Amino acid sequence: MALMSFLLFLGSNGYAQQKQPDLVLRGTVTYADRQSYLELPFAVGEDVTRVSVELSYTERDKHTNIDMGVFDSERFRGWSGGNKSFFTISETDATPSYLPGVIVQGQWKLILGVPSIEESIRSDYEVKIYFSHRTDELAGSTFSQRPLRDGPAWYRGDLHMHDAHSDGSCLSQSGAKVPCPLYKTVEAATARGLDFIAITDHNTISHYDDMRELQPYFDRLLIMPGREITTFQGHANVFGTTSFVDFRLTSPHVPTVDNLLRQVQELHGLFSINHPGSPSGAACMGCGWSAPNTNYSFVNAIEAVNGASLDGPQSGIPFWQDKLNKGYRITGVGGSDNHDADYSSHTRTAVGHPSTIVYAANLSEPEILNAIRAGHVFIDVEGTANRTIEFSAHTALSTASMGDNLSAPSGERVRFALKMLNLESSHPEIICDGEIVTLADFSPVKDKEEIRNFDYPSDGKRHWFRVNIRSADGILLIVGNPIYLNF
Ligand SMILES: [Zn+2]
Ligand SMILES: [Zn+2]
Repeated sequence: MALMSFLLFLGSNGYAQQKQPDLVLRGTVTYADRQSYLELPFAVGEDVTRVSVELSYTERDKHTNIDMGVFDSERFRGWSGGNKSFFTISETDATPSYLPGVIVQGQWKLILGVPSIEESIRSDYEVKIYFSHRTDELAGSTFSQRPLRDGPAWYRGDLHMHDAHSDGSCLSQSGAKVPCPLYKTVEAATARGLDFIAITDHNTISHYDDMRELQPYFDRLLIMPGREITTFQGHANVFGTTSFVDFRLTSPHVPTVDNLLRQVQELHGLFSINHPGSPSGAACMGCGWSAPNTNYSFVNAIEAVNGASLDGPQSGIPFWQDKLNKGYRITGVGGSDNHDADYSSHTRTAVGHPSTIVYAANLSEPEILNAIRAGHVFIDVEGTANRTIEFSAHTALSTASMGDNLSAPSGERVRFALKMLNLESSHPEIICDGEIVTLADFSPVKDKEEIRNFDYPSDGKRHWFRVNIRSADGILLIVGNPIYLNF
């Protein structure tokens, strides 16, 4: 009995903090209900895509127990007994004990079982029911109702990985190459010390149910839903929604890339073009980005560094910088594109190689995605635990960090500051509008923490400045995002 109460307490996750319930059902259970099942009907509307239920009741400390389960208007959807006080069910994922699948409209029935209640006890129960809809904005992380860590910080993550739900593979117990179970990717990310990951199987959304099961156990690693929209004209990750996005970039399904981008906008998703510098042709159809008439004002991010190409001839950096030169503010991110969770950590495309480092308000999916949209990001090409840059610009009136815009009229002096941590013996490269400039001291870094300042007299026109850090032998270590002037 004590165990049961503990589990119930543990299961409570404060969903109510996110938003007001759509329905509240209240009642009282007495000894007359002992060892029976109560049916609580409730209506689910046609546009509902997720049903979440939270149960609480009084007199638990007096040996009262209430079990819970649910039927939709057609079939059984799960039973958690007394082991959970909250569950959520959607098309793609559900709390373990419950079945994901289509949210059918009509009358659902919550079942409350009463295994034990003593004579003379009256237990008041309250059931809060929440409905979500396809175009709702994220209220919290998809798989965790609370931030995994509070407070602003640099959080390190990998935004691009594959597993058994697409073409990720690894060696089985007996050494056969098999579709690699998703938990191995999550374990590899944990071993690397990452703070967040997005798993991005090709076009499918079948991996979210596994991710929901893993999140409560991996409570230091934020697990975010993603998918790699994989078309014949390019690949792009979509984050921030679990809804289906039609990837068939051809008539009559999704005739133009504009239709694709608008689908993602409607779902409040984040659209990030992957490995745009890859070739496209028979060897890898659609690997480079070749979709004509792409409206880059709807593109939030570009994978400037992909694990397979890093800084080589297929680097995504020239493609990204070309868009910056055309006046778009698009965040450069990195992604390992891992297809085997067992790759040793220093190899290319190992989980976390490269990592994307994000300055976010806390460790939750909405805040990580907000920070990526804002460009508060740098890429750690080798995915270390601690290499960090902070790049800022100051005028008499204002201050900007990576991703921010600063107004600087002609003649105004802009003072830049570059702080480098754990980058001894490497050297910085300052890039203005795509060209390396010699404004700053680019001699090797001597100290664990070093700051370099330089001034730029503004000409009042539009420019962007960003930083690369290279090792003594020229290997790219860090790719910073731009500070924008007069955008
Ligand atoms: Zn791809
Ligand atoms: Zn991929």
